[in-house]
Amino acid sequence: MTITPSLLYNYLQCPHRVWRDKYGPQAEKSQETNPFVEMLWNKGIQHEKKVVSKLGELTDISEGSYDERFDMTVERMKNGASLIYQGVIKHDDLFGIPDLLKKMPDGDYIPIDIKSGMALSGVDEEKGDEGKPKKHYAVQLCSYADVLYNLGFSKQKRGKIIDAGLNEVEFDLLAPRGPRTPETYWQLYERIRNNVSLLITNQEKNYPAMQGVCKFCPWYESCKKWVEKTHDLSGLFCVGRRVRDALNDNLHIHKIEEVLDIDIESIMEEKKRDKQFLKGIGEPSLKKIVRRAQIFYKTGKPVLYESITFPEVSYELFFDIENDPTQEFVYLHGIYERHNGQERFLDFTATELTPEAEKEAWRKFWEYIDSLPQNDYAVYYYSAHEKTTYKKLQKLYPDIISAGKVEKFFENPAVIDLYNDIIQRQTDWPLGSYGIKAIAQYLGFHWRDETPSGALSIQWFNKYLEDKDPAELQRILDYNEDDCKAMMVLKDALQVPGKADPLFTLFNR
Ligand code: SF4
Repeated sequence: MTITPSLLYNYLQCPHRVWRDKYGPQAEKSQETNPFVEMLWNKGIQHEKKVVSKLGELTDISEGSYDERFDMTVERMKNGASLIYQGVIKHDDLFGIPDLLKKMPDGDYIPIDIKSGMALSGVDEEKGDEGKPKKHYAVQLCSYADVLYNLGFSKQKRGKIIDAGLNEVEFDLLAPRGPRTPETYWQLYERIRNNVSLLITNQEKNYPAMQGVCKFCPWYESCKKWVEKTHDLSGLFCVGRRVRDALNDNLHIHKIEEVLDIDIESIMEEKKRDKQFLKGIGEPSLKKIVRRAQIFYKTGKPVLYESITFPEVSYELFFDIENDPTQEFVYLHGIYERHNGQERFLDFTATELTPEAEKEAWRKFWEYIDSLPQNDYAVYYYSAHEKTTYKKLQKLYPDIISAGKVEKFFENPAVIDLYNDIIQRQTDWPLGSYGIKAIAQYLGFHWRDETPSGALSIQWFNKYLEDKDPAELQRILDYNEDDCKAMMVLKDALQVPGKADPLFTLFNR
């Protein structure tokens, strides 16, 4: 039994992945690598090469068998090598290959990993928030530091990340994870290591729970099939692993149909007596789960909790952006415009990976918005992503538009976040996801692309940058146009004329 940093990483992504990789139905595991995951992998390798090329002299131990490399690594550290690349370290059940091992002035060796993402999350210069270590990076460093400590090459538990911005960030692995999370990174590592150990030895078993990351996992189809076949509670929108497990353990219910029989009143009484009972799951959440189970299992019809009135305007714009978070780059602002019964798609696209191209596309977007008759247009988008991204763009290009104007644009009641303002608050669907793809497809809309996905759009864009194939760019535009059109289909479906509408059940909460 060997525990590697990638097992710890997999556990943090999804605790079930660790068990399924070892004991799951192997025939159901996809052998194809998701192109987006492959792209990230290649970017990581390129970034590592770039960093390493700037480091100067180092001891390269990237060749040979693991045993040979381990022996060489130990020998080089004993001889005091200042910087070791791709050394192999192991102790007991732990095994790892830190990108770098650096000798510190106090004689200790410190593990350094090179990452193509930023080392810290939650950095907000405006609020003075310096951010905190990404936990999957910290846990990985902990496992290296643990081995070095046990091999006698380090007296301290510490490590560094060289990140996408080429910052060398030291992680205090003994620090609490946050002001409200007293658990330290080291304690988190020990907890995860213990759980991983139980899972890979089959002393413990856990179950799939569908979540965003599943789309990139080779077990996606297999786990989805299991959730559908078993009527697992995680098939309900917003019932994730934590809530599912609490309902399993505390109420002994495992199937969606069993939720229909729960007695919320007596559960609330029990919660008053026992603070640990269904901890963190309150009455509104329970009611929501029951309602969704009814819709999912019994009625099979979407529900509108109140009829919705949309702005009556000459121009309706269905708006969606495409950006590459790995490079902090917005490459497309797409608008599907409906005006006087005519429809057209407009794109404001950066076809080069340069700040000038990004800025120019954004400038043209705002020029278009300014060309519309004021107070006579409505904008529909899906989720807070557009707003958040535009605030960031404004900081990058303040000469294009002021912060106040961006704020005002999104505060306009005719600029509507369909997901947060309407779908989440005023509707429910017999679906496991309330994403635009799931809902629009439920409403009969079809994307032209066979594998429509935002992640793949990023991969297509990066491929386009390499080979400049116009077909690749067209694929991105078609995908974005279909995303925008899907919102139009949804908006039209929501604008029901009254209680006679056969699509929705009208329901008071
Ligand atoms: S598909 Fe989802 S639930 Fe299944 S192993 Fe992968 S990440 Fe976990």
